[in-house]
This record gives sequence, structure tokens and C-alpha cells, in this order.
Amino acid sequence: MVVSVDQIREGGLSLDEPLSEAFLTHALADVKDTGFRPISPATLHVKLRKTASGVVVQGSTEVAVHTACRRCLDDVPLQIPISFTLNLVPARSLRGDDEEDADGDDEQSERAGSFELTRADEEVFDGKTIDLDPLVREQVLLALPMHALCSEDCKGLCGRCGQNLNEARCACETDPVDPRLAGLKNIKLN
Ligand SMILES: [Zn+2]
Ligand SMILES: [Zn+2]
Repeated sequence: MVVSVDQIREGGLSLDEPLSEAFLTHALADVKDTGFRPISPATLHVKLRKTASGVVVQGSTEVAVHTACRRCLDDVPLQIPISFTLNLVPARSLRGDDEEDADGDDEQSERAGSFELTRADEEVFDGKTIDLDPLVREQVLLALPMHALCSEDCKGLCGRCGQNLNEARCACETDPVDPRLAGLKNIKLN
């Protein structure tokens, strides 16, 4: 989804953009497999506004995903709310001075864009068109939890036999887990 800056009127531009399952799958597993998979498509509500320094993009959506519980590997469905505000700055304005003519200055603006540090909520764009896809993909990844649990008190899998301890106990449970403590097994406490 590419938006042209010319489409943004005085009062801003509001869009409801579908996020297909294919788009979300790509976002969650393209660069690095996060282990999260989409359950259904979603809709991104996005508003773009022109400002003195560029364009402000505000977006919100809720993405339904599932992943494996970190302890027991059971499937865990999750609703991930996502909301973000990004300031899109034209590449040339990062140079901090505007005395240069904007025309025919592409080489210099590109160089400035690659050296200047941008703030976390700032993104550089060419000043004419905004490609929302990479911005949304990044925001989806940022919103993911580090790991998921099927429940806070998930007992996990037995480290020896692999039994899911939420479902049943196993025979290993009474044995000491740490081999350094194995000797204690023979000590009788009165
Ligand atoms: Zn679990
Ligand atoms: Zn076991």
C-alpha cells in the first residue's frame, strides 16, 4: 500500500487497509521466523497528516496470531494490539539546513539520510510517496511478546520423558532432577 503525499488533504487522510493473512505471514516469518503465525486477516486503521516537517502516520490494528507455549509447546492463541505514531521526514530535511535547492540534489540528500541518526519514531522517506508495508511489518514485529505461555502457571514438559505435566504426572517426577543432588537420594532423613 503506497500513499502519495498529494493524496493527503488539509484534514488528513484516513484509510482502512486490509492486512491479508499472506502479508502477516510474510511479516512474521520473512527476515527471521518469529514462531508466530496469523490466525486471520486484520484491518489497519491509519491516518496520515501533513506537518511542517513531513508526514505523521498514526496506525492501529489488532492481529490474531498463534504460537507455541514456551514451556509446554501447546498452541497459544493471542490477540496483539498494535498502535503506533511515526514521523516521516523527507530525506533532504535531515541535513538540518535548507539553503540548498531541492532540485538536482539527490546525491547529497541520500548521503545525508544515511549518516544522520533518526529518532526512534522517525522514518525517512523520499518526500513524495509513503510505502506503508515495511512500516507496518516493523510495527507488527515490535508488538510481539518475547515469548508466550499457555497460562502463567503452565507446568511445562518433563525434562526427562517429555510428558506434558499440565495433562498428567510422570514417574520421573519423584527423582531428583539435578545429578549433583543424586547422592542425596540415599540419605534418609528422620
Ligand atoms: Zn504451556
Ligand atoms: Zn517425566
